[in-house]
Amino acid sequence: MNNGTGTAGASGTAGATGTGGTAVIGASGLPTPPGGGVAQPAGAPANLTVLNWAGFKAAVSYTFDDTNSSQIQHYPELQALGVRMTFYLITSKATEFNNPVWVQAVQDGHELGNHTRSHAQIGTAADVDGGDMDLRQKFGITVFTMASPYGDASYPPLATSRYLINRGVNNGQIAANDNTDPFNIYCYVPPTAAPAATFNAEIDAVRTAGRWKTVLVHGFTGGTDSAYQPVDIAEFTAGVEHAKSFGDVWIDSVVNVGAYWRAQKMFSGVTPATSGSTTTWTWTLPAHFPPGKYLRVKVDGGTLTQAGQTLAWNDHGYYEIALDAGSLTLAP
Ligand SMILES: [Zn+2]
Repeated sequence: MNNGTGTAGASGTAGATGTGGTAVIGASGLPTPPGGGVAQPAGAPANLTVLNWAGFKAAVSYTFDDTNSSQIQHYPELQALGVRMTFYLITSKATEFNNPVWVQAVQDGHELGNHTRSHAQIGTAADVDGGDMDLRQKFGITVFTMASPYGDASYPPLATSRYLINRGVNNGQIAANDNTDPFNIYCYVPPTAAPAATFNAEIDAVRTAGRWKTVLVHGFTGGTDSAYQPVDIAEFTAGVEHAKSFGDVWIDSVVNVGAYWRAQKMFSGVTPATSGSTTTWTWTLPAHFPPGKYLRVKVDGGTLTQAGQTLAWNDHGYYEIALDAGSLTLAP
């Protein structure tokens, strides 16, 4: 993964760099939403709120399972889309796992996640940990998310003590601050040969709802290793271009959107301490949370500080708070 992970850029800090062809990405590693020219609020120091989806209208994460050859074959087209994606690798598929494309993917800011070493129907701790170890040793990354093979119910309990997020296979949308199980998040799996219009309809629906959708593609038509329900690369990329065309849909890896989603919910549960006109929020991040992540917040007015540093207003309508700091103060 990239970002998330430590080294690899994918995540936080690093990520920014790579992939994003079109999106402007700042120091937080988050892309910049549309708009700008928003004046800094000058009212009372009150009403701190976290922006859903980093200030975008909705979010989409594209994921690829099973280390299929057609993903490798079409990596150039995927990378050319300029958005970070998540690849869940089966690490025992030696020929594909050892393809240099994955080193490139990490450098490009994409996330590599764990789809276990052997892709067993019934998960075991040893197989999950084996996949994690293979990813760490080969790519020097920390793995923050996984995907359940077959969506089997044996995997969420294994993920809970190991990861920030586990992606399941049940279709659904994820809302900010909702009660979706982070260890079995929803996912849309398109049918075989799904046309762009099918992808587009999913994007339109989640954008209207203002929620997060993950999409799972196993491979593309023409691969040599029998990907499950393959789709045409041109139809898939057209669907991604449709999502990009709005400008207000946050397209990013599972770890990047997932960290924001989980941190927002964590923060919403914090009861701040008040002393005179000063309010302080103090938090502990969820387990297995990647370093270098941020939330975007707004207030009616006042001055926000972290570790004694005044936070800068971004004229797209927010302040960025560093989650690693563990506290935030609002004062006149
Ligand atoms: Zn799989």
